Amino acid sequence: MSQFFHLDGVLHAEATPLHHIAEQFGTPTYVYSKAALLANFDAFASACAGRDALVCYAMKANSNLAILNLLARQGAGFDIVSGGELLRVVAAGGDPGKVIFSGVGKSEAEMRLALEHDILCFNVESIPELHRLNAVAGAMGLTARVSLRVNPNVDAKTHPYIATGLKANKFGVAFDDALATYRAAAALPHLEPVGIDCHIGSQLLDDAPLLEALDKLIELIDALAQEGIVLHHLDMGGGIGINYGEAGEDEPVPVGDYLGRVFARIDAWRAASYGGAPIKVIFEPGRAIVGDTGVLLTRVEYLKPGAEKNFCIVDAAMNDLMRPALYQAWMDVRPVALRDTAPALYDVVGPVCESGDWLARERALAVEQGDLLAIMQAGAYGLTMSSNYNTRGRAAEVIVDGDHVHLVRERENPADLFALESLLK
Ligand SMILES: *Cc1c(COP(=O)(O)O)cnc(C)c1O
Repeated sequence: MSQFFHLDGVLHAEATPLHHIAEQFGTPTYVYSKAALLANFDAFASACAGRDALVCYAMKANSNLAILNLLARQGAGFDIVSGGELLRVVAAGGDPGKVIFSGVGKSEAEMRLALEHDILCFNVESIPELHRLNAVAGAMGLTARVSLRVNPNVDAKTHPYIATGLKANKFGVAFDDALATYRAAAALPHLEPVGIDCHIGSQLLDDAPLLEALDKLIELIDALAQEGIVLHHLDMGGGIGINYGEAGEDEPVPVGDYLGRVFARIDAWRAASYGGAPIKVIFEPGRAIVGDTGVLLTRVEYLKPGAEKNFCIVDAAMNDLMRPALYQAWMDVRPVALRDTAPALYDVVGPVCESGDWLARERALAVEQGDLLAIMQAGAYGLTMSSNYNTRGRAAEVIVDGDHVHLVRERENPADLFALESLLK
């Protein structure tokens, strides 16, 4: 059930009318629902119940400390892509022992930090990275647990910017090079190959490409076992999509169905080839955990009728929410207070000085200057992708819990934005 709904003509988050939040905290503000967050995590956790499985939330989707803390309390692990994200996990009370570190460009300092915190595993993406990690771990007198991110070369059928599992992508080790790369890892004294992973793309509505990738990982695990390289976990990556509400959009596969198919496939394989001995399974969902748990609340500054288009100019912009400008993403826009007047067609745009600064195009809206709008399904890749372009402070973030509203990130103050800058003497 969605935690964002109109009641008596007013859009609510749980039991809180959104205009109360705008009055108290201003706009633009990201508004998240605690109940929605916990329900999304539970869809993964309950499908994993009773198994050796770990849900590592891909925190680049939304890394607010309060969100991380709520998930950590549910037992979540975290998929990180930088040293900064590891420090956030620690600050939020997460367990570094449940952290996996992904990304193609890990620095020596980031490797050291992760080894100091004894993270669960490094997801390594190239041979030079193996050598660097071996050297860093060796200098610390440690052994690093590694998994190779294998690029299974399956077509995830998603936007080119969020497809990551094709030969043409910068991510992972090519499937055909995987065995040789594992041999290289096993030969390095300060590395211990413990797992295998993939992540083929984002906003996948169908799980068929993921199951195809799983079959490729199984093939590699079997081939490695024959050489005496025994892996202890299999990491399916993230990528399950959400419904953004566009007309004609396909429904995303339900999380429970997808995990059920993964476990059925794995159980059958383990029964046939390993006498039923289980293997740990890791998932790295990002968008599926937070995407539909948040909206971006914004106020209409001006209505600007034009010869070809009408513009609805709001106080949120591409610096707050980049998905439309970056991926031409379609995002639903809903008025907070419903009006009886006839709607007109608007492009919803921000104040930033770029023609690419739009949030939604050609939407039928009954709005007036000063009205509040909500950009729906903005919980993932919203604030985390935001910038200070045009010296705009980042939006505030709040978490709604019933009729309680918790401010979890203050609005940035313009003076903070240039506080690190200095003049020439
Ligand atoms: C971004 C990312 C994820 C999460 O992707 P979603 O589509 O948000 O689920 C998982 N794993 C890795 C390695 C990523 O880079």
